Order: sequence, then structure tokens, then C-alpha cells
Amino acid sequence: MNSSIKRKNDDDSGSSTGPKKSFKGHWSQGLLQSMSDPALLVEKDEKIVIIKDKYPKAKYHFLVLPQECIPDLKSLNSSHLKLLKYMHKKGENLAAQYPGSEFRFGYHAIPSMSQIHLHVISQDFNSPCLKTKKHWNSFTTSYFIDSDMLIQQLKEKGNVKSLSEANGKQLLSEPLKCHKCDFVPKNMPNLKEHLLKHIE
Ligand code: AMP
Ligand code: ZN
Repeated sequence: MNSSIKRKNDDDSGSSTGPKKSFKGHWSQGLLQSMSDPALLVEKDEKIVIIKDKYPKAKYHFLVLPQECIPDLKSLNSSHLKLLKYMHKKGENLAAQYPGSEFRFGYHAIPSMSQIHLHVISQDFNSPCLKTKKHWNSFTTSYFIDSDMLIQQLKEKGNVKSLSEANGKQLLSEPLKCHKCDFVPKNMPNLKEHLLKHIE
């Protein structure tokens, strides 16, 4: 986890007031708790858990997490290839249940939450939780690493290239741009209004 690219409050998952929490109860560990929350559970087996994203940034937004503890992308090595392919396959199978929606499968280059998680996200981005430019850019710039690219990189190099904090910040602050056409929105409300045109 990289603490200086702060996105914790974007998801209302952190508390800036009140007593300091122990690391176990730290906001960045929230996914580990959500993995056993029946309200969020979609599916699980001996290798993975699929949950609904608690602050979905699109109509359909799920997270596929390994049961094995893998805190971050830099902990990955070739021994994890089979598991990552399995996570991808499970994500694809889930997306296939929504044939009317286009999906992407991928990882944030600098995740805010601990335990690796594959985002399975529909490309409508029609959700009240999608509020900020950082949210938008985290799913529509190269900050979002497609799962098959990550798997290929791990296969070829034995590890996943990390993005510098500076490059991460730069990607998240890029000017807004529609992911489907040439439209350049003035601001987030303007983008969200425009996105509805791509849904019909
Ligand atoms: P990232 O770490 O940037 O890849 O994204 C973390 C994702 O987890 C975001 O899409 C959040 O909306 C989501 N999220 C944050 N806290 C929780 C939680 N406690 N349970 C489930 N999803 C969460
Ligand atoms: Zn557009």
C-alpha cells in the first residue's frame, strides 16, 4: 500500500476523526473483513472469494480476492500465475451473467486497499459512488492494469513492474476524457451526464 496517494476518504472507508485504530482495524485492511461479510459475498471456493465492491463505481462492480494472503502486487511471483489466471476466469464467468454489459478486468497500479483484488467492472460507470476525477482516471487511464497484461508481465519477467508514486499521481490527475468517444468533459457532473448517452 502506498500511503501518500491518499484515496481512502474517496470511498468513505476511512475515519479522519476519533481514536487511532490498531493496524488490524486500519481502513486499508477493510477488504479482509469484507471477505467474510455475508452481505457482500457473491461466491467463494477454496482458492478465491468474490465480493461486491462496497462503493461500486459502475452498475456492476465486483472484487475477486485470493484466499491466500497476498498483500500487494509486488508480492507476486511466477508461483502465483495459476491463481491469477483462475481469478481472471472466475471474473469472466461472473461477467457472463450480465450479457448486456461490457466489462473490464484489472488491477489498480497503486491500490489503496491491502490484499490483491481483481476489479470486475462494467463499463457504464453509472453509479453515485463514482464522484471524483481520481475515481475516473483510476479506471480509465493506464493506472488500471488489465488482468491479462499483468499475467503476461508476470509470466515474462517473474514480477509486476511497480508504478512510481509520481507517475501514479500524474495519471490520476490527467484531464477528464470520455472512455468511449472524443468528448472532453468540463467537470465530473458533465462527464456523468455524457456517460448516460453511451448506455442507451
Ligand atoms: P483499490 O485498492 O484502489 O484497487 O480499490 C479498492 C476498492 O475497494 C475500491 O473500489 C473501493 O470502492 C472498495 N472498497 C473500499 N473499502 C471496501 C470494503 N470495506 N469492502 C468492500 N469494498 C471496499
Ligand atoms: Zn463519450
